[in-house]
Amino acid sequence: MRTLATIGGPATAAVPTSEPVPFAPPAITDEDIAAVVDVLRSGWLTTGPAARRFESAFADYVGAPHAVALNSCTAALHLALLAAKVGPGDEVITTPLTFCATANTILHAGATPVFADVDPLTLTIDPAQAAAAITSRTRALIAVHYGGQPADVLSLRSLCDQHGLSLIEDAAHAVETVSNAGKTGSTGDFTCFSFYATKNLTTGEGGMLTARSGERVDWIRSAALHGLSRDAWTRYAPGGRPGYDVVMAGWKYNMPDIQAALGLSQLTRLEASLARREELWRRYERGLDGLPLRLPADSCPGTRHARHLFPIRVHARAAGVDRDELAAALGRAGIATSVHFRPLHLQPFYAGRFGHRHGAFPQAEEAADQLLSLPFSAALTDAQVDRVVAAVGGVVGGSRW
Ligand SMILES: *Cc1c(COP(=O)(O)O)cnc(C)c1O
Repeated sequence: MRTLATIGGPATAAVPTSEPVPFAPPAITDEDIAAVVDVLRSGWLTTGPAARRFESAFADYVGAPHAVALNSCTAALHLALLAAKVGPGDEVITTPLTFCATANTILHAGATPVFADVDPLTLTIDPAQAAAAITSRTRALIAVHYGGQPADVLSLRSLCDQHGLSLIEDAAHAVETVSNAGKTGSTGDFTCFSFYATKNLTTGEGGMLTARSGERVDWIRSAALHGLSRDAWTRYAPGGRPGYDVVMAGWKYNMPDIQAALGLSQLTRLEASLARREELWRRYERGLDGLPLRLPADSCPGTRHARHLFPIRVHARAAGVDRDELAAALGRAGIATSVHFRPLHLQPFYAGRFGHRHGAFPQAEEAADQLLSLPFSAALTDAQVDRVVAAVGGVVGGSRW
C-alpha cells in the first residue's frame, strides 16, 4: 500500500536543485487508483451509485442536509444562483479577489456582479463593504473563503437575513473550513465546492453543491441533468422504470461515477491530508521567519483554516524585489508559483464591461500586487518545502517589513 506518507511524507533524501518543485501536485494513492478501476470494471460509468454514495458521505462530512455532486464548482455556482432565483435585473455582491468563475456565473444567471472590497487580514469579503454595496436590486451575496481562510459568515448571515438576500458560499478552497458560523457547507443557503486538480480534495474535475433546505434540491438535480424528471440510474438500475419527462431546458452538470469514486476515496484521507498541509504550513512559517515578507494570516479564534494556499506578501521596498521579480527568480530555480488573484474588476473583460478603474477596491488591489502563492500540497515533501524556503531566502533581503 502506498500511503500519503510515502508519496508526500517527510523525505530523507534532499531534492536535487535541478528537480522542479511543482505548484500543487495532486496527492493520489494506490487506493484512489483502485477505486477508479473498480468503477471502470463495474459496467456503470456515469452518474449512479458511486455519485450517490459520494454525495451522502460528503454531506455527512460538512454537516449539510443536502448535497448534489456536479462536474465543477462553476456548475455549482451557476445552479446555486438560479436556485436562489437570481436573474436578469438582479445584482449579486462578491469580492474581486477571486477566480473569475465566481463572477462569470453571476453573468450566466443574467444578473450583474457588484464587487465589495476585502478585509486586509483575511482577504475575504469585508461585511461593512458588502453592506455598503447593497441596493434595492441586490438578491444574493457570494462569500469566498480565500485560500481556505473563512469569511466572517456570522456577520454576512445577519446582513443577508436583514436584507432578504441568499447567502452563497464559494468554498472552492474550503472543504475543511469552519467559519465563526459553523462548518462550511452547513451555513450558507447554498455552498459550492471544487474538486479541480489542484484543490484540497480532487476528482480531476468536479464539484459539489450543498443546500441548507431541501426546497430546491429536486430542481437542482433536474437542472444538472438536461431538465430530465428522472436520472439514468433510476431508469436503468435493476428494478428501475424506463422513461422520463423533460421539464426544463437544463444543463449537463452531473458528476460521473468514475470521478465520484475518486472523490469518495479522497474523502477518507481528507483529514490526514489537512494534517500534512498543516505541517508544511508550520515548516514554511519557521523557514521564512525573519525574512522581510508577510506570511499568510493563521486561523482566527474559533475557526478552522483549510490551508489550501500558502500566499506570502512581497512588499518591494522591504524585500528588495517585487512580487513579479521574486516569482521570476523562483521560476528560474525550477520552483512553480502562482498569483491568487489578479483582481477581477481589473481583468480586461470586467474593466471594459463595467468601467472599473484602479483604486476602486484598494485592499484587494494592494494585496493582489503583493501576493505570491508558494508551492503547497499534501504531496510535497519536507525537502521540497525546504528548497523553496532556501530559494526565497536567497532572493529576498533587507529589513523586516
Ligand atoms: C477553482 C475555483 C473555482 C472554480 O472551480 P471549478 O471546479 O474549476 O469550476 C471557483 N472559485 C474559486 C475561488 C476557485 O478557486
